[in-house]
Amino acid sequence: MDSTDVAVIGAGSIGIAVAHYLARKGVARVVLVDAGDPMAMTSAQSGENYRNWWPHPVMRQFTDDSITLMEEIARESGNRLHMTRRGYALVTRREDPQDLYAELRRGYGEGAASRIRFHDRASGIGYQPPLSADWEAAPDGVDVLTDQALIRRTFPSWAHDVRTVLHIRRAGDISGQGMGAWMLEGIREAGGRLLRATLAGIEGGAPFTLRFTDGTALRADRIVNAAGPFFGEVAEMLGEEVPLVNVFQQKIAFEDRERAIPRDMPFTIDLDGQALDWTEEEREILLSDPASAPLAGPLPGAIHCRPEGGDGGTWLKLGWAYNRAPGDPRAAEPPVDPHFPDVVLRGASRLNPSLKAYVGRLPRGARHYGGWYPMTPENWPLIGPARTPGVFMAGALSGFGTMAAAATGSLCAAWMQGAPRPAYAPLFTLGRYDDPALLAELRGDETKGVL
Ligand SMILES: Cc1cc2nc3c(=O)[nH]c(=O)nc-3n(C[C@H](O)[C@H](O)[C@H](O)COP(=O)(O)OP(=O)(O)OC[C@H]3O[C@@H](n4cnc5c(N)ncnc54)[C@H](O)[C@@H]3O)c2cc1C
Repeated sequence: MDSTDVAVIGAGSIGIAVAHYLARKGVARVVLVDAGDPMAMTSAQSGENYRNWWPHPVMRQFTDDSITLMEEIARESGNRLHMTRRGYALVTRREDPQDLYAELRRGYGEGAASRIRFHDRASGIGYQPPLSADWEAAPDGVDVLTDQALIRRTFPSWAHDVRTVLHIRRAGDISGQGMGAWMLEGIREAGGRLLRATLAGIEGGAPFTLRFTDGTALRADRIVNAAGPFFGEVAEMLGEEVPLVNVFQQKIAFEDRERAIPRDMPFTIDLDGQALDWTEEEREILLSDPASAPLAGPLPGAIHCRPEGGDGGTWLKLGWAYNRAPGDPRAAEPPVDPHFPDVVLRGASRLNPSLKAYVGRLPRGARHYGGWYPMTPENWPLIGPARTPGVFMAGALSGFGTMAAAATGSLCAAWMQGAPRPAYAPLFTLGRYDDPALLAELRGDETKGVL
């Protein structure tokens, strides 16, 4: 029987990053098992945005660590991951949103005061607009813009009712595919390999026998569960249950033929909830179907918009993670909602009125797609030892697995090698479910950071 030291189930961003950091720590006999091509499932649907902004300091530190690792990769690889850094612009029509400022202070923890810069009309402190995409030239920290003239000058495509902008500076986008391809090259050079096979069952304890649907098998001393939306299913094969649901989220991408959005606009999130301006007839049609009825009522905030393909590109990406209903990734067809393109366009037009040109008239070639967010109730990942000795988890990466892949891979490899780990490492294990005080703190939506 074929054998290996470590079998990583899943060759998406996460499994590949675990294998990469294992190879860096000298574990060469690694087999990445995947039913399909590497990076082809959820990792192919990612918006590929990253940020160090989180309402909770643990997640902020974790993504800060991941960004530091990605910056190392950018330097080492000649920026094969196409890292940019124009920031995240979080936008609201509210004046003086003290709750958002408190969230910033909490998320950035110690040293927050020096990281947050306020720009009102009187402050006169310099603000560096996001003219360049170069990650090495961008500032750190957060710029809070309340000076209306400054907002309009810097972001001319936005509606004039914006009152406050939180510009998160350690944020931007990467090519997750570029990073995955670069890591795979290194894994292969170190002696690791890919095995195309569908895992059907796991027998024994360390060493384990992995049984595949084609009748073949692999013996492995240790296993990493990095199966993305099938993380729960692989855990079940070991007789384990994990508190996890899968929620389907969608995006559209299309060519911006009307040049509605300036190419240097950062990834922008309209934080305010809204009700869409349907006609009476449209509203009636939506209300006649229980599945679409919620779209006729008030919807949550956090609509995304960003130029896609760099300064010389012409495409746009829009997203809105308003779905909260868990679904089943084993279903034959993904639950793509035919209303989504219209909904996200109308929603995004509130902040960018020139996008209205596309409502009901999306250019030919527009893409509507989606993927699963595997989420724990508190939206924190599961990284580290599973209950079964010899099995490790790298899952529940929700909507942040591209930005967190590097830190997830590094942390999982550190658990496996008994190497030093960051202080938050135990909080990402199943041990957190034995800490009622922590769970009570994480129960509310305000700490989840779902975007
Ligand atoms: C619409 C959308 C937008 C997103 N935007 C962002 C973003 O802007 N920034 C960000 O950081 N993150 C984003 N994410 C999240 C990010 O894409 C994911 O967290 C990340 O890709 C997860 O990677 P993964 O390796 O865990 O999962 P996957 O990429 O799904 O990989 C899991 C792999 O496991 C394999 N597998 C599963 N079961 C088996 C089995 N039984 N046998 C063999 N192989 C198996 C699958 O074939 C698959 O290739 C987004 C996600 C979605 C859906």
